[in-house]
Amino acid sequence: MANIQQILKNFKEYNPSGDAELIKRAYEFALRAHQGQKRLSGEDYISHCLAAAKTLVNWRLDSETIAAALLHDIDDTKITSKELKEDFGENISKLVEGCFKLDKIKYQGGERRVENFRKLILATAEDIRVILIKLSDRLHNMKTLSILPKEKQKRIALETLEIYAPIANRLGMGELKGQLEDLSFPYVYPRKYQLLINTIKEKYKERAKYLKNIKEILKKELEKNKVIIADIHSRAKHQYSLYKKLIRYEKDLDKIYDLVALRVIVPDKIEDCYKVLGIIHQLWKPLPGRIKDYIALPKPNGYQSLHTTVFTLDGRIVEIQIRTEKMHRGAEYGVAAHWYYEEEKGLKKYFQKFLPFPQILSPIQQILSPPQTNQKEKLSPHLRIPSKRLNWVRNLQKWQTEKFDSPEEFFKSLKIDFFKNRIFIFTPKGEVIDLPEGATPIDFAYSVHTEIGHHCGGAKIDGKLSSLAQPLQNGQIVEIIPQKNKKPSRDWLRFVKTGLAKKEIKSWLKKQNRTLKNPKN
Ligand code: MN
Repeated sequence: MANIQQILKNFKEYNPSGDAELIKRAYEFALRAHQGQKRLSGEDYISHCLAAAKTLVNWRLDSETIAAALLHDIDDTKITSKELKEDFGENISKLVEGCFKLDKIKYQGGERRVENFRKLILATAEDIRVILIKLSDRLHNMKTLSILPKEKQKRIALETLEIYAPIANRLGMGELKGQLEDLSFPYVYPRKYQLLINTIKEKYKERAKYLKNIKEILKKELEKNKVIIADIHSRAKHQYSLYKKLIRYEKDLDKIYDLVALRVIVPDKIEDCYKVLGIIHQLWKPLPGRIKDYIALPKPNGYQSLHTTVFTLDGRIVEIQIRTEKMHRGAEYGVAAHWYYEEEKGLKKYFQKFLPFPQILSPIQQILSPPQTNQKEKLSPHLRIPSKRLNWVRNLQKWQTEKFDSPEEFFKSLKIDFFKNRIFIFTPKGEVIDLPEGATPIDFAYSVHTEIGHHCGGAKIDGKLSSLAQPLQNGQIVEIIPQKNKKPSRDWLRFVKTGLAKKEIKSWLKKQNRTLKNPKN
């Protein structure tokens, strides 16, 4: 179990000038607030807060984030937001309240617009650090999920699998994504999980044993060639991603070459990665078409590595991954790898040393990057860039590449403001509809379905009858009241905001005109 002394000690190791006192103060505050509260497991409630804080220390985050993690559940206590603000100031209470807000959004599954739901989570968080706290919170809740009642287990596991694991993946946190998926898997798909485990148990063991041999041979060969490596280890594929791959390859386990893969980590030179690749290919023949250079062409979430698949002893096939220590850190911790810096000394040194994805600026980025003019502020990002998906990637890349002069500037840049001109509206069934600011119930209706737009007779906002022209607010629940004989009105064009609604209304009116001019008998 995590304890505060250990957390403080580990924090000081990577951040000697950081505000450890703040973390201690947050701990004492949380301890008092949660006094007498127990988790279902019977443990004191504070153990959960400490577990979340410990994870964030592993990711080497700053003192504010860790303090906020210790306080993230005090909305269940008698503490008021005023007290929180008085004791800890604006920054921390904002982070903590961001966590409260996220707790209120619950995913029930089965939504068609699951991508919108992920965006809603990010937009609600406002500061990326709130997401990191939430992820550390979720990791501990998943590890202790077996204590909860069955229905709750399923809902939380599904939310983890479909919302939080993909968010971790977008943030480049590969290890966490794999952990969250594997923890959810048995709850969401219990039978498929059992089936998989029964199939692979022996295979895993046998592969791991075989790779031990291969590892020794490769190690000697690298030594002979005077290549210095930081580490060489084998890693078993995460179960859920194996399951998904098996479905893709029609369940042929023998075609999954990275069931257990070998990983070579070199200290810091990119040339050494290619050198290692060359040595491996002289030793064992590569499988054609399976060499992947994610160093020259990183994955959208920043992942960098060389992958190759080779025929080893007895013609058996093995996948090998090669990367520098910095890339390895980036692959495991993603965006969280950015916090590793000394809080008071600024970020320059940090960026030279630890930026995980230095050359991620690809040609795509250059095309997507808007000109830096004052116009930028006025335009929604969605107007500048046609593809929302690329826009998301672009913003992530921007976090990873921009240079900052001060920590303040750095943190400001991590506010999730790329959704700032968007609002997220719920249908009565809990689906999330993504709309521009100022959108009205008519826009909402057309976003759900054209026919619902055409026959929109009235609207209830949060259960109250409202005008069809009423601008909607983030988080509202909107119910459209359809009327069979209702038709789109030219008036609507005066207040609708989305291009979609305008287009549909105009094309309906046009068609109407044609019918009036050429009436059929
Ligand atoms: Mn919690």
